[in-house]
Amino acid sequence: MALAESKGLILFTKNHRENDMLVKIFTESAGKQMFYAKGIQRKNQPLKAAVQPFTQAVYIGTFNSEDLSFLNSAKDIQPFLNIQQDIFLAGYATYLLNLADAAIEDRVYDPNLYHFLTQSLLFIDQGYDAEIITNIFEIQILQRFGVLFDWQHCAICGESHGKYVYSSKYHGILCEKHQYLDARHYPTDYKMMQLVRIFSQIRYEQINQLDLKPETKQRLRQFIDFLYDEYVGIHLKSKKFIDQMKNWQDILIKPETNSATESNE
Ligand SMILES: [Zn+2]
Repeated sequence: MALAESKGLILFTKNHRENDMLVKIFTESAGKQMFYAKGIQRKNQPLKAAVQPFTQAVYIGTFNSEDLSFLNSAKDIQPFLNIQQDIFLAGYATYLLNLADAAIEDRVYDPNLYHFLTQSLLFIDQGYDAEIITNIFEIQILQRFGVLFDWQHCAICGESHGKYVYSSKYHGILCEKHQYLDARHYPTDYKMMQLVRIFSQIRYEQINQLDLKPETKQRLRQFIDFLYDEYVGIHLKSKKFIDQMKNWQDILIKPETNSATESNE
């Protein structure tokens, strides 16, 4: 079997035997692949840096279309350093990696998802709001789970301007004129729905213009959770982790805010 190479992103690793490792990589040219990395845990093994969590590189090895692939070497290693060093950012990034892993089958060629995922990590690493990036990723990746929404047009009349509610009955959004058709539509929240409409089309370069209040973020979180429960139905440990993280994040961050306020007085 010939040697091949591809850009890739580490999804997760698992120790195997004393010195070996199983490494799951989302490759740009051959989809997600499980690689066997022999002897990688030995001292001074240069490949070790390339399989750290939150790392992107060009991976070289034998890519098999049915069995395990084999990892030989790597070049152009680019760690996402800020994510690696920040437990909160790592929480969000892990969830996005898990979502991408769950959304498509292994070995399916999907360079668009690969780029979307690496971009998401890059923007989190560069200090953009990880919560907003996560929400955008969740909304835009829904179609990979086979869930297609038209967030731009009323499901009845096609109207694309105005205020909308979400309707499970019509599997989409309803304009003001047609909201009465579903008395049990998702609780009216025009601002939140407008954000979902924006998030479904936005590119990360544009998100600096977004400044969301915590309450708005919380309502978005609830709506996206509702969609995932209703249509996707996966329960990732990493999602649970970021939900719980919010609680202790507040505890960790609050004392700092207080002392800053005090020193200003
Ligand atoms: Zn309408």
